[in-house]
Amino acid sequence: MEGFIGNLILEMGLLPTWMIMSVFMFVRYAFFAGLASFIFYYLLKNKLQHKKIQERYPKMAKVWAEIKHSSHTAVIFGFLAIVIYFLSEKGMTQMYYDFSEYGLMYTGFSLIVIILFHDTYFYWMHYAMHKIKPLIRFHAIHHKSHNPTPWAALAFHPIEALLEFGFIPILVMVMPFHPGVIAFFALYSFTFNVIGHLGFEVYPKGFVNHPFFKWFNTSTHHNMHHKNGNGNFGLYFNFWDRIMGTNHEKYEEKFNEIVSRQKEEKLETTILV
Ligand SMILES: [Zn+2]
Ligand SMILES: [Zn+2]
Repeated sequence: MEGFIGNLILEMGLLPTWMIMSVFMFVRYAFFAGLASFIFYYLLKNKLQHKKIQERYPKMAKVWAEIKHSSHTAVIFGFLAIVIYFLSEKGMTQMYYDFSEYGLMYTGFSLIVIILFHDTYFYWMHYAMHKIKPLIRFHAIHHKSHNPTPWAALAFHPIEALLEFGFIPILVMVMPFHPGVIAFFALYSFTFNVIGHLGFEVYPKGFVNHPFFKWFNTSTHHNMHHKNGNGNFGLYFNFWDRIMGTNHEKYEEKFNEIVSRQKEEKLETTILV
């Protein structure tokens, strides 16, 4: 990506490169969010209706708003990609391009570090977004979706997008990362984000009571955050919510109710909110 961005800047200039990177980020978002929406809201809609977390379906106007705000985040992502390129050009990052430089063990380790770091960073940033007044205003954009769809995965105010993802340029300055690790992390993060906003529960019965899997978040977990507007702040893992006692009191009960539903109990009608 570094060479790709460098060539684009040389050939087209900075602003067009930013625009192209933003379009690339938006297309990537649209592909994955679109694929999840197509599968869950069209292809398997009837088959999986008993897995729908909230009975109602959001109105199209809400979905368009999610897409609009996500397009702003794509522009911020394009900006961050260019920031990382310039930092790398100036020798300010510790990025390495040859796996053998640090070995495969380190590559795996760095992936675990970035995921754990992001999970902790996200929890506290998200918590602050709900408690500190100026931040509450920015975060309100994301909470316009009370019944989110996969299209809400990147629906943030641009300032929130910067705060949520601006840690990446800082992290690559203090620790060596291979671009492949960053790319894999971005994909992992986005997949989790889509699951969190899916609107359908995909995990199996017993997940939240399992001694190991209860430490992982579910789709119900983040859906309840959107519906109730508080509690359930975590991203990938349920670690911080459990430690800080911020899981919604009915989280496990709600999850178990959804995964215990029988197919016949599904709603036959589509209700819009
Ligand atoms: Zn929130
Ligand atoms: Zn959300």
